[in-house]
Amino acid sequence: MYNSEIENMPLEKLRDLQNARLSSMVKRLYSDVPFYKNQFDNIGLSHNDIKSVDDLYLIPFTKKADLRANYPFKMFAKPMDQIRRIHASSGTTGKSTVVGYTQNDLDIFDEVTARSLYCGGARKGMKLHNAYGYGLFTGGLGIHGGATKLGMAVIPVSGGITERQLTILQDFKPEVICCTPSYAQTLSDELIKNGINPKDLALKYAVLGAEPWTEVIRNQVEDGLDVKATNIYGLSEIIGPGVSQEDVEERGTGCYIWEDHFYPEVVDRDTGVPLPYGEEGVLVITTLTKEAFPLLRYWTNDICSINYDKNAKRTHIKMSAIKGRSDDMLIIRGVNLFHTQVEEVIYQIEGLSPNYRLVVDKKGAMDCVTLEVETAPGMEKDNLDFIKAIGMKMKNTIGITMDIDLKPHLSIPRSQGGKLSRILDKRSSVY
Ligand code: ADP
Repeated sequence: MYNSEIENMPLEKLRDLQNARLSSMVKRLYSDVPFYKNQFDNIGLSHNDIKSVDDLYLIPFTKKADLRANYPFKMFAKPMDQIRRIHASSGTTGKSTVVGYTQNDLDIFDEVTARSLYCGGARKGMKLHNAYGYGLFTGGLGIHGGATKLGMAVIPVSGGITERQLTILQDFKPEVICCTPSYAQTLSDELIKNGINPKDLALKYAVLGAEPWTEVIRNQVEDGLDVKATNIYGLSEIIGPGVSQEDVEERGTGCYIWEDHFYPEVVDRDTGVPLPYGEEGVLVITTLTKEAFPLLRYWTNDICSINYDKNAKRTHIKMSAIKGRSDDMLIIRGVNLFHTQVEEVIYQIEGLSPNYRLVVDKKGAMDCVTLEVETAPGMEKDNLDFIKAIGMKMKNTIGITMDIDLKPHLSIPRSQGGKLSRILDKRSSVY
């Protein structure tokens, strides 16, 4: 464990720490950020009412729209002379949100990413191939800082220029790679295309995140790169990557949320009411230690559940893999659909590869979905019985009738280095 005193802190002690941090954070926010002062005053809430995490439900959510309304710096809780770095979200769902860090925030960022990398198998003395994008996106520099703190030799490759990535993997022999799961798929395809045996590389661990992924992609990446692949989750608004991380020996059981810095709740998507552990809803996070850009009850829009795992190595709560963003959910003829659900079904069908895209369009007044999916090597793509069987399996599992369009290997767009959208929605351009 990177920081066993914290990662294994008894729950009661962890709660005391969270409560103390929360009440001082709320006082600070009330006096230093006009947005929060107004939010409290508008509903007659005093900062003294928030004594523990159990009182959080009294505070309204902070949403992405609030951050956009305060663009670029009005949510900052420290003056610019104390800010040491500014990042922005990738802007996947619209205008980017801007976030700032004091030196102390950057130290915390290093701490949680170092913890996360260790949890994913990385160790001091190993080399890290960091293929997350460097720049305004928090991925590249965030992971870079944590790896340096952990004592790794960082290779700041950044995303893209795949040919160069292959050369570095072969010549520099890094043991750990960080990138998006879809880019790890691209790299694994390219190894095959170039006749490179992954066993001739030194890679052992892949720490992957920034977009939703499921076991089918884990399998492909683990085989294709000859690694153990773990999930890292985060968002710029909260800090960047390293909000939570899966342990390499506990793969498939969820990601530890570093609760000494980030307090999680899961709430009902429609009513905002906090849900019991284990129930799926929107993840809401309160930062407990951030100085420049603290947030109370930030509505991440990401769908998951949280729960304590009694068999786990650490005491901190775990979150399930993200099913998707609330606003990425498709509603097809009244049925809700996340692309990860389709991915999970692909996992169960022999003969398909996890390279796919959902194309949404209108047929007359009706919404319709086509699943474009590549067949595994050697599989015939015009086999009508196979196509029919896939359609049936999707209908029976997800409840949606979809057209199936089998595609040859490498014909569906791949990640060029960053996040990959697996949905092509043609409806808005048609109507
Ligand atoms: P943007 O919201 O513009 O993409 P960020 O680059 O900050 O900005 O990305 C954060 C978002 O990326 C998260 O809110 C979540 O939707 C997604 N994300 C990050 N890590 C993961 C992960 N491990 N699994 C699923 N989704 C993730």
